[in-house]
Amino acid sequence: MMACQHMNRKRSRSWKLIMHAALTFLGTGTSMGVPTLGCACAVCTSSDPHDRRLRPSVMISWTGPESPSSRIVVIDTGPDFREQALRNGITRVDAVFYTHAHADHILGLDDLRPLSFIAAKKAGPIPLYATPDTIAILKRVFDYTFSPGATYPNRARVELMPVDARNPVHGALFQRIPVMHGDLEISGYRFGNAAYLTDISAIPESSLRLLQGVEVLALSALRHVPHPSHATVEQALEWARLIGARQTWFTHIAHDLGHEETNRTLPENVRMAYDGLSVPVTL
Ligand SMILES: [Zn+2]
Ligand SMILES: [Zn+2]
Repeated sequence: MMACQHMNRKRSRSWKLIMHAALTFLGTGTSMGVPTLGCACAVCTSSDPHDRRLRPSVMISWTGPESPSSRIVVIDTGPDFREQALRNGITRVDAVFYTHAHADHILGLDDLRPLSFIAAKKAGPIPLYATPDTIAILKRVFDYTFSPGATYPNRARVELMPVDARNPVHGALFQRIPVMHGDLEISGYRFGNAAYLTDISAIPESSLRLLQGVEVLALSALRHVPHPSHATVEQALEWARLIGARQTWFTHIAHDLGHEETNRTLPENVRMAYDGLSVPVTL
């Protein structure tokens, strides 16, 4: 309780209350998910539940002085969003931040519908934050939701919002961290002492500076074999070392990497995340 009242002067010029929050991994798999269809490898047939990975997404949940009822922000709504919401007891979504418009990150947008009906009655449409590039693709893919002439009565009550460098949501601040995904500049996010960076192949120097002081880091690490638009475990370990978080969690993991087996090879402060893992963070 005392910790909740603890004042933090470093993060902003004005006094700001620290809010205790949780970062929950809704999915830690790569775009194909694990098990991968048609594959009978050791990881795809593993009996360890940590080796079952839905498509990549996280949620940040908190309560605070400006948010007496619990708030939930989701980063990306992939094709498994409905199942992830059921598994994790998600009954509301206050905002979504999109990293980029690849299928494994956006195709669950339509599953926001029932939650958006509830949100719309209370507070208005759910804001969806994304870059102009991602917004353009969302408008095309979900034309029946976003086109000005959309008449489908059960369309999601959502509102596309251009993501800024800093985006306040109910007393929490979500900071965009530009990262490279092959040739594409996409969005990572920092919130309080934590950051979520997925689908990365390079982190610009200017973005590394925005990550100073991050204590809990979620970082994508696809596999050992090099890939044009994703980090290998070795690359991710190098960034983990550079950023120097107290705790780094690997996500967006392909079926090449077994949970236990890979964990044994990692430094103690770097671990494989798994679906349903929830770690404390402060906003
Ligand atoms: Zn992806
Ligand atoms: Zn991608």
